[in-house]
Amino acid sequence: MSLLNSKSDFPILSRQINGKPLVYLDNAASSQKPQAVIDAISDFYTNHNANVHRGIHTLSEEATNMYEEARAKVAKFINARHPEEIVFTRGTTESINLVANTWGVENIKSGDEIAITQLEHHGNMIPWQVLVEKTGATLKVLEIDESGFLKEGYKTQISSKTKLLAISEASNVLGTIQNIKDITKEVHKVGGLVLVDGAQAVPHMKVDVQSLNCDFYAFSGHKMLGPTGIGVLYVRKEILETMEPYQVGGGMIREVSYEKATYDDIPGRFEAGTPNIADAIGLGSAIDYLTKIGMENVRKHGIELLTYAFDKLSLNPKIEIYGPKRGEIEGRTGVISFNVQGVHPHDLASVLDAEGVAIRSGHHCTMPLHRILGVPATARASLSFYNTKQEIDIFVKALREIYNRFH
Ligand code: PMP
Repeated sequence: MSLLNSKSDFPILSRQINGKPLVYLDNAASSQKPQAVIDAISDFYTNHNANVHRGIHTLSEEATNMYEEARAKVAKFINARHPEEIVFTRGTTESINLVANTWGVENIKSGDEIAITQLEHHGNMIPWQVLVEKTGATLKVLEIDESGFLKEGYKTQISSKTKLLAISEASNVLGTIQNIKDITKEVHKVGGLVLVDGAQAVPHMKVDVQSLNCDFYAFSGHKMLGPTGIGVLYVRKEILETMEPYQVGGGMIREVSYEKATYDDIPGRFEAGTPNIADAIGLGSAIDYLTKIGMENVRKHGIELLTYAFDKLSLNPKIEIYGPKRGEIEGRTGVISFNVQGVHPHDLASVLDAEGVAIRSGHHCTMPLHRILGVPATARASLSFYNTKQEIDIFVKALREIYNRFH
């Protein structure tokens, strides 16, 4: 499949916005969906809809098979050893909350430490704040350097007290890609576990949980061409087997009396109630699509677009880009957070919208990081493989015009 032709696979990308062709540069917030994913969801409801793991009638068996096939696709996509290591959730936020409320509550005690980094998304920060408050543990915030990479000094900050390091593989603001493999090695040396927030990594690069050797890996379907309301929590099997259920009720039990219940095996034990069947199948279809393109190609094209955008944007000295610089482009994804001198990011976003260009402005769920950056808000253009150099030209030209208008 050619990347250059892929834009036409996404029906929404042919829309006009305010009389201009849509230039969608808000992929870090949510990606658009190819027709194949839309069709997969529609096909499920049109031809196969029934509840899973319950009926023995044909439709229920079909639905169950499709749902479990989607789980197997996810496992293969991130190179998990077993499909049972994949729990379907509503998204990254729910995946992380699940870990904090099960593994965290069961294992974290007063005197223990949980470590995060300064650039974490609120979704990988607040669950740990609440957990340490509940348990009497301490939350350590590890420092990042100017590009957003975890500072080497973190090694002296972790110890046998560190029970967990929760870190994003790719930042949703700076784009910085951390060296998770090395970090995991260090944390395991002191006996801690590593949770990776992969929300901004999985859509852009090959993720291999065995090679990263992480213990938990969380991501969202909607940022990787899949539907909203479906996400993934990978947990290493030996750990998942020790964890208590997150929610209890139907669909996750083995035996129930009025007094008590015993629970299903993993991963069903973590999926109480009727799961989001159609969207899991939609996510499976998104994985098929990305696999056909090849994640190496997605990354290669991503770097090419990013380099092009950097070169164009850096022609304007009034634009400040945060995160890894042009010389460190391999260390980042296509998230470009920036400020234009003298123009508020919200004004930038609304004037760009009038030109058909969708970007995001604000703190991007990273208020503490923005305090470090010294600004209350940034503008953020985030690329996907379906973006083109022509679209970047439109974006850069519009920025130039806005700058001239405001000065
Ligand atoms: N972590 C990161 C790094 C993110 O970018 C996001 C989404 N903005 C999340 C967590 C939360 O993802 P979701 O809203 O899909 O749960």
